[in-house]
Amino acid sequence: MKNKGALNLFKLAAVFFTMTASLTFCACTKGQDAPRTNSQEKPQILTSSYVPYTLVKNIIKDKADISMLMPPGVEPHSFEPLPKDILKVAKAPFFFYVDRKLEPWAYEIKKDKALALAKGITNNSYTHLWMDFDKAFLMTKNATYDLQKFYPELEPYLNANLIVFEKEINKLKEAYTNGLKNCRFRDIYHIGHLAFEELAQNYKLNFKPLVNSSESQEPSPKDILEMIKQIKERNIKYIFTEEALPPEMAALIAAQTNTQILMLYTIEHITKEEFDRQITYQDFMYKNLENLKIGLECK
Ligand SMILES: [Zn+2]
Repeated sequence: MKNKGALNLFKLAAVFFTMTASLTFCACTKGQDAPRTNSQEKPQILTSSYVPYTLVKNIIKDKADISMLMPPGVEPHSFEPLPKDILKVAKAPFFFYVDRKLEPWAYEIKKDKALALAKGITNNSYTHLWMDFDKAFLMTKNATYDLQKFYPELEPYLNANLIVFEKEINKLKEAYTNGLKNCRFRDIYHIGHLAFEELAQNYKLNFKPLVNSSESQEPSPKDILEMIKQIKERNIKYIFTEEALPPEMAALIAAQTNTQILMLYTIEHITKEEFDRQITYQDFMYKNLENLKIGLECK
């Protein structure tokens, strides 16, 4: 499961070559008045994956047609855009992605109109910034400001929604602080990757992922055996896993350690059913809290 996000430059060059004419045409229009051709049309917003989708949707709601480049079932670490994806991104009036670190291909395609939600907040070692509630809010605020530049008439609407979102984020923070205060265990044994490190740190938990990397990688047999040993020694009752992984690995470790499996949602990966139900960032983070409270035996 090595990261395959690096873009094939030849593919990119070929697509750009075929697009030269249309891009030259577009280059003369500055951002502020470019995106809309008809005042009756809703803004068309393309997002890379579910994290930017759900954060932007929180503030734009039904005032725009918002879509995702990666279909449900695809996660950003291993995503490699096809030529049709590159064209779609290049042509999109709005393309929101997380940042260059998580989605280097998006940065390469959209350098000039880079609407990275994480701009200004990525100067640290974390990849999964949205797992810090304050950063999730700042990412959403960045998107709000970007949208307001292009759609000044929506400014009061977007500001009002941003205020509501900030209140919801504050409620989430409070729920996490209270919910994770008194727990029997503070170690999160996670059959997955390094997605929840910052969340764990914020609430004084110890995150112990099977794969100690922000990228998706295969765990080594040594890592698996060490985790099994620790879980048995510490008499842990619950282990955690994430949505993008095949369930066999967690099932194997659960069987070896007589533990139960709980889900922690990275929100990077979404099923078709979850997408259809439009489960929000906030919903996923409450589900994570619920499962953490069960797994860590919090009062
Ligand atoms: Zn990840």
